[in-house]
Amino acid sequence: MQRIFLISTSPEEYARQGVNFEFPVPDACPNPECLIPIPPKKHGFYERNCLDFTYRGRILIRRYYCPYCGKTISYLPSFCLPYYQYSLAVINLVITNQINSNMSYAQILRQFREHYSDLHMGMQHIEFYLLRFLMNLHAIQIGLRQFLPDIAFPDFGLDIKRGAKKILHIVKDGFGQIHTFSQRFFEQCKRSFLSPLQNILA
Ligand SMILES: [Zn+2]
Repeated sequence: MQRIFLISTSPEEYARQGVNFEFPVPDACPNPECLIPIPPKKHGFYERNCLDFTYRGRILIRRYYCPYCGKTISYLPSFCLPYYQYSLAVINLVITNQINSNMSYAQILRQFREHYSDLHMGMQHIEFYLLRFLMNLHAIQIGLRQFLPDIAFPDFGLDIKRGAKKILHIVKDGFGQIHTFSQRFFEQCKRSFLSPLQNILA
């Protein structure tokens, strides 16, 4: 299973520290079907890519193993999203520039080419992230209700862009940083706010 832990360290610094980074140490197995109050054992690392404004390259992901239930648990830093190579900050910039600032896809692409050309962001990425976000809007709203039960959620009907803007606003007001929202959403809903929709049923 995967967990996301909140981290204020930049991807660059996280990568620099490598195995010496102070990774979270669970004091019990986080598998909901196990939860044995015995710390899982360290189980090495795996490498993955991280494409961020400050760093582009491999990072280490800490793994643990619970001998009681046999589950492997990996700890993803909150600047990453499961299955995405681009960092959360990069993806968030695409989403907010389109939804909040009404930039066109072409303008966003130009912005990346002019300012962050090393990221090699393509039009297909931009389209994909926006679509993923919009497709998850309803699931995000359901998730948000669990954190913010007193908030009146917009009935945005067919105006999905307007709804998306309001959801981003609620996220910002309720959580401040997108990292905090992403981490808490993942822990609460057992999926990322940008995961494929069929995961809801899994
Ligand atoms: Zn276990």
